[in-house]
Amino acid sequence: MAIIMILLAAGTMLILALAAGFVLGWANKALHVKADPRVESILAILPGANCGGCEFIGCADYAEALVKDGAAINKCSVGGESCKKMIANILGVDVTESWPYRPVVHCGAHTGDKFGRHLYQGEGTCSGANGVAGVQGCTYGCLAFGDCERSCNFDAIHVIDGLATVDYHKCTGCGACERACPRHIISMVPFKREKMLAVTCCNHDFGKAVKAVCKVGCIGCGACARTSALFSMEKNLPRIDYEKYDPETAAQELELVMGKCPMKRLLSIGKPTEQDLAGVADEKTPPDLIVDKFETTADKTEWRG
Ligand code: SF4
Ligand code: SF4
Repeated sequence: MAIIMILLAAGTMLILALAAGFVLGWANKALHVKADPRVESILAILPGANCGGCEFIGCADYAEALVKDGAAINKCSVGGESCKKMIANILGVDVTESWPYRPVVHCGAHTGDKFGRHLYQGEGTCSGANGVAGVQGCTYGCLAFGDCERSCNFDAIHVIDGLATVDYHKCTGCGACERACPRHIISMVPFKREKMLAVTCCNHDFGKAVKAVCKVGCIGCGACARTSALFSMEKNLPRIDYEKYDPETAAQELELVMGKCPMKRLLSIGKPTEQDLAGVADEKTPPDLIVDKFETTADKTEWRG
């Protein structure tokens, strides 16, 4: 009797296994989605930085989106122009010219320019300090704890003398620093030239209040907006219309505007040109600016009011 029961159970198991095998085999054939070889080819071209600058989780996601959803071919700033052209080749689409976007830090205050700084012993990150009142007088400017620096996979942004500073030779424009800054004072700007004009302040208060917390902040006088149509005033701060900015024709106009700014908050920033380098060829760079390992973590920040 026991043997019959065992045989019956084994037979049932065998029939179930055969049925499951048949169903799985059928499903494998019927539901198989053929992988598009273009995804693999594009993935081989993308730099593999998985930095998220393209707004996808990683390079593989972007490669899929390019092939399946027609995502824009210019989203990989790390790969740059050559990567864009190769993607266009694989997808058989036209290459459209696009400006490289690079980060601009909208604050120009170094340690000695910031008033009202107090000893802060909380979490040594910008996101931690951002939620605490009184860390420094200016509630808009760079906190200098280096969240942006830690977010950069390319060693291209460092806190130097209390201010986040981009190394445009190394920056790939991935935008990680922009996303990391809890004060939202980094924005990606179309660099139509190696150097672009930027507003290096983000304090929206009126002039007197700005002067109380910062030596160099924008006082919102509006001289720039009165001088050039490229500028408009928004909540006491100038905004540059980069769409309208034409690098071929704007140079003279911008020089005029920069000259009108009493606080010198409109700066031309980016890669130094040959002319810039020649201009400082005789100068000795201060030793604290040429060390390649910046020790600027919160614990080592010198707090001065
Ligand atoms: S500084 Fe670094 S994180 Fe910021 S855009 Fe450049 S490469 Fe990316
Ligand atoms: S994330 Fe960078 S730019 Fe933003 S407040 Fe911190 S150090 Fe300054």
